[in-house]
Amino acid sequence: MSRDINNKFWDEELETLPREELEKRQLADLQEIVKFAYENAPYYKRSFDEAGVKPEDIKTLKDIQKFPFINKRTQRDTQGVGSFLGELAAVPEEDVVFISTSSGSTGVPTMSPFTKKDFDEFQDTESRWFWQIGMRPNDRYVHALNFSLYVGGPDVIGAQNLGALCIWGGTLPSERLLFVLKTYQPTVIWTSPSYAWQLGEKALKNGIDPKKDLNIKKIIVAGELGGSIDATRKAIEDIWGAEVYDFYGLSDIFGACAAMCEAKDGLHIAENHILVETIDIHTGEILEPGQVGELVFTTLRKHARPLIRFRTGDIGRIDNTKCSCGRTHGRIHILGRKDDMFIVSAVNVFPSDIEAVIREQDGITGEYLIRIFERDFTNKYAVEIEKNADNPKSDDEVAAEVTAALKARIGVKPARVVVHPDGGLDTRSEHKSRRVIDERTLDYSI
Ligand SMILES: [Zn+2]
Repeated sequence: MSRDINNKFWDEELETLPREELEKRQLADLQEIVKFAYENAPYYKRSFDEAGVKPEDIKTLKDIQKFPFINKRTQRDTQGVGSFLGELAAVPEEDVVFISTSSGSTGVPTMSPFTKKDFDEFQDTESRWFWQIGMRPNDRYVHALNFSLYVGGPDVIGAQNLGALCIWGGTLPSERLLFVLKTYQPTVIWTSPSYAWQLGEKALKNGIDPKKDLNIKKIIVAGELGGSIDATRKAIEDIWGAEVYDFYGLSDIFGACAAMCEAKDGLHIAENHILVETIDIHTGEILEPGQVGELVFTTLRKHARPLIRFRTGDIGRIDNTKCSCGRTHGRIHILGRKDDMFIVSAVNVFPSDIEAVIREQDGITGEYLIRIFERDFTNKYAVEIEKNADNPKSDDEVAAEVTAALKARIGVKPARVVVHPDGGLDTRSEHKSRRVIDERTLDYSI
């Protein structure tokens, strides 16, 4: 490979395009993909006709606002209708080389098809993110993500295409993974933030000091919000003596659509592949860059199943200002899933805000469980935590401290804080942890 390993960019021209030029390319691709979708995907033909819009209506990027939204339900309802790939697909099955499916955690699993070109461009994007965090051909990389059906599995090919030595870890039991880390001394690993943290703790308990006995320099995290919560990222960095970078993916598009750079101030999104809009979660009104709302993505180059104005269900904001790293592609800041947000005394509360407080607090382990419930038709929340074994304070004192910290950060205090001893909470599951229990019986969906 002739690529200069000292160049900080994987594709310098693309990553540093002046915004005017980037938007010009987005417009050309948008016009092409909307026309392709209209002519080849039965759903778009029908929905554009019903909305009275045509591909030729797209003269500027803003014209996308005339087109109807789709969401997860659109995918579910059209999947398998008319053909195996369904009515959102725009190519025949023989052009498709790969499908992934979502975990189905919010309903029926939805599949995402790729043509050969879609798949190659997906992997080139993954190589770009790996390069962006400093992975180079002399790195040894453990891909500790599920390979079965999950879109994040094949991202490992992006690391191989970059030239790194790749170890396909998958979802190994932690003892086995620690053996791999100790024996092969890899330098980069990708896993979920809660698992990165728990794996570090487990190593320490097994007499392995990740800082001295292992060689991990960089940890990529995704799948949960932790990597974008400063306190959580620092807690993982402290255990491992490594840099932590957050990646953001959507099973409907790519394994990672956006990734942190060395500035760790939001995640650069591949704007050559995705046109980002932010909308008001209640009214659907278009917001300005910088305003917090639901992120809406239009895929610009994925031909197997184009997504035109897909409501992601993720709440965040986009920042299009130039980053200190020199990249011109916008950065997204994710606050949480719309479904996870709850309202207490007119305040929008995200579990990620609660996590940030818990992880910053001294004298507690950082494990937590949130319960959302109602009393007199009003939302309340309770937080359960674990006190460190060597913390001399009483449970009441610890609960009072945590309550005050939550009130200061979020604006509304919890109905109660329950203090458990170290290890008393059953939240240390491998990979994705379940930390929010919704006990409400009324329908609060927005
Ligand atoms: Zn940057």
